[in-house]
Parts: sequence; C-alpha cells; structure tokens
Amino acid sequence: MSLANAPTPLTTVLIANRGEIACRVIRTARRLGLKSVAVYSDADANARHVREADEAVRLGPAAARESYLNVEAVIDAARRTGASAIHPGYGFLSENATFVAACERAGIVFVGPPASAIAAMGDKSAAKARMDAAGVPLVPGYHGDDQSDDLLKTEAERIGYPVLLKASAGGGGKGMRVVERGAEFQAALDGCRRESRAAFGDDRMLIEKYLTQPRHVEVQVFCDGQGNGVYLFERDCSVQRRHQKVLEEAPAPGMSETLRREMGEAAVRAAKEIGYVGAGTVEFLLDADQSFFFMEMNTRLQVEHPVTEMITGEDLVEWQLRVAAGLPLPKAQNELRIVGHAFEARLYAEDPEQDFLPATGRLERFNLDLAGAGLESSRVRLDSGVEAGDEVSMHYDPMLAKLIVHGDDRDQALATLHRALAALDVSGVITNRAFLQRLAGHTAFQKAELDTRFIEHHFEALF
Ligand code: ADP
Repeated sequence: MSLANAPTPLTTVLIANRGEIACRVIRTARRLGLKSVAVYSDADANARHVREADEAVRLGPAAARESYLNVEAVIDAARRTGASAIHPGYGFLSENATFVAACERAGIVFVGPPASAIAAMGDKSAAKARMDAAGVPLVPGYHGDDQSDDLLKTEAERIGYPVLLKASAGGGGKGMRVVERGAEFQAALDGCRRESRAAFGDDRMLIEKYLTQPRHVEVQVFCDGQGNGVYLFERDCSVQRRHQKVLEEAPAPGMSETLRREMGEAAVRAAKEIGYVGAGTVEFLLDADQSFFFMEMNTRLQVEHPVTEMITGEDLVEWQLRVAAGLPLPKAQNELRIVGHAFEARLYAEDPEQDFLPATGRLERFNLDLAGAGLESSRVRLDSGVEAGDEVSMHYDPMLAKLIVHGDDRDQALATLHRALAALDVSGVITNRAFLQRLAGHTAFQKAELDTRFIEHHFEALF
C-alpha cells in the first residue's frame, strides 16, 4: 500500500543524517515510493547520500553542531522541501527529545518514538527506577536520589565489590569506572563526578554490581501507535573495543527458547512501560548463569539492525515508516521466525597498528565482487556510505561500511563472513579489515566463547 494514503500520509521524507545509514534509509524510502531529501554539511557536499537522494539541502559548515546537530537548520530544510517526515538515523539528533518536540511543533512526523519516551530513557537512574517498577530485572545496585559520599559508599559495600560507578546522565562509556575495593571508592567517585560534570553538566551517580564476564545481548523491539508491541529476537554484541561494538550477530549463540522468550517479553514490557512507538533496542547484560539484567534502552534504529533483518526477512526501516504513517505493525509475534544466522562486521577507517587512530584520505578502490568470490547476493550485504573516489574526512564517525552476511547456521555464516572480508577490495584509506579477519578467525570466536572483554582477553592474538 502507498504511504501517501495512510492515516498520516507520507510522501517525502528528509533523512537527518549522513553516511551509510542515510543511504540505507533512502533505499527503502524509494522502494516504498517516497521522495527522499538528503541534508549535508560543507564537508559532505558531494557525499554518496547526497548523490543518491532525490533532493539535497545544505545545512551548514562541517562541524556537526553547525550542521547535522543544528535543529533549526534541519527543521527549516524539511519545511523548504515539503518533507512531511524526518528520519533521524542513529547518532546526531536521533535521541534528542528537544528535536523531537521541535518536529512536533512544526507539524512534521518524527520517525521514532515520542519525546516523552526518549526523555524517560535518557537518564539512567530514572530509567532504572521505571524498569524496576515494570518488573524488568536490573543489575543489583543503587540508583537513588541521595548522593552523599557516605551513603554511596555504604551502598557499594552492600552491593559488594567489584562495583561499577556510572554517571546517571552518561553515555558513550564516559563517567564510568570499576571499583575493586573499598579503599579505592572515594577516589573513583571523585574522578567519575568530575568527568560527568565536564561531559554532561551533571554529576549524579549510580552504582551497579560489576559483572566480570557478561555478554551484551540486546533485544530488538517494535511498537505501533495502536498498542501492539513485538520483539524481533536478539543480537549478541559482546565483541567490543572501548564499549564500541565491532562484530555483531543474530541470534545470540546458545540461547534456549525459554530464555529468548523471557528476554523478548521483558524488552516489550520495558517499551510498553514508557509508551514507546517505533523501533527500539533494549540492552541486557547476560551473566554466565543465564540471568539477564536491563542495562539501557536505545530509542532509535541501531547500527547493527541489519543482522535482525537478515534472520527475520523483515525491512526495519519499512516498519518504521509504516508505523510513522500511523499504520499497525506488519506482523504479530507469532508470525515472526528466526531463519539461519547473521553476522555484521563494522569496517572502520582506522589503523589498528596505531591504537586505532582514525584514518583519512581518498578511497582508491572500494568494491565487493560477489560473483567473482562465489558469494550469493541474497547472503551478503554491504551497507556503505562511500564509493571509490570518495574522500574520507576526519569530521565524523570513521565507520565506512558494514558487511552483513547470512548462513543457514552459524558456521556457514562465519565461513561466508571470511570469504566476503577477503573479497572486499579496499585501498587508499587504512581500514580495520585485517583486524576483523583475525577476530572472525579466532578459535574462541568460532566456538562462540563470547563476553564483553573478548578483545581485551585475546588482544595479543589479534595483532
Ligand atoms: P554507555 O551508555 O556509556 O555506553 P552502558 O551502561 O550502555 O554505558 O554500558 C556500556 C558497556 O559497559 C556495556 O556494553 C558493557 O560492556 C559494560 N557494562 C555496563 N554495565 C556493566 C556492569 N554492571 N557490569 C559489567 N559490565 C558492564
């Protein structure tokens, strides 16, 4: 059905983002018959997403706060092009409740949850209190209002060391520290508060039991405006470097059907508790004894959403646009199935030999010849924001592309990942490709011995 005749008619969508996710959204918008509007900074005037959109509007100078983070400029671009909806992608304005409120005021549909749902998850302490009330399991800890040093110390002792201090307002791993014993508590608390004040203008802390070898397992949820909510199963994103995901997979290896259902249902409960609408991800820590704990909810489409698309056969951007147009979810829980296994590897312009320093330059070659490598196009997907000849600048996130593969089972998918990584022809800019090959080729990874310190534990073997 055409979204032009939907309850909230959509004809033109502006994509308030750049890079691979902007290209990804344009692709589905076009398939659904929507006109796409790109926005760009001066550094991106000739970028791939600008070339691919039906229309493009300049936002401002290269600095993100003057372009992709400029609320006024984005809203103005939507007005000028007659865009009835804005898709925010991930990052930039995607979880900015002020921006969502500005869209609402301007009568533009924000392709995402209501501002109130974003705000509810924006503060870690407040979010944990809500989740606790909704019966979603939390890591043992303290997330109260009393922030006196003495009380926090007493709570840390009650929880039991090691504990993790986290900034309530935190994100991106900032304002977070592990405390091994009581003697280190005060210094760690002072340090975290300083960091958090500097980064977020807020120094409230929460304390969690520090799990020593957890897995990061997250559940994809989707809700519509009619009160329906489903989960599209889970992803394992344990392979991280400095809390940045590097390799992701779906489904999470070794999950029993019972655990999958319990986590899925807890995630939907979390979303419903805050009146969620659209695509969201509920992140959990999964402990070795199979107990799981709510960590946070990301109120947007995630970078790693394609592995979920590969195993379910659904297009999550299409779901987002349909829900934004006021339509109900395309499928009910009992119509969703996992088929096979998928991996995603993030290709970054960075030099693993130089402490992962971001790399820049002109991409001389960038190509994946599927037929030449004997790979099936239904099994391999390269989501990228660049092409050969493009300039990679230092202004934004260094992720160039995502390589996503599918197999009938995990072994087959992993074999395909190896072949696709080897077949990727990239030159002109240094990338982490060889690092990804070593990661995917590590025997512990092959055996799915995953935890969030995988890279740390196997560091020597990865270089
Ligand atoms: P941020 O919002 O800053 O990214 P998160 O709360 O999402 O912080 O945590 C980031 C990462 O830190 C997780 O993916 C996990 O690897 C680790 N982590 C968070 N909480 C704990 C915990 N209680 N125990 C062990 N590791 C944790």
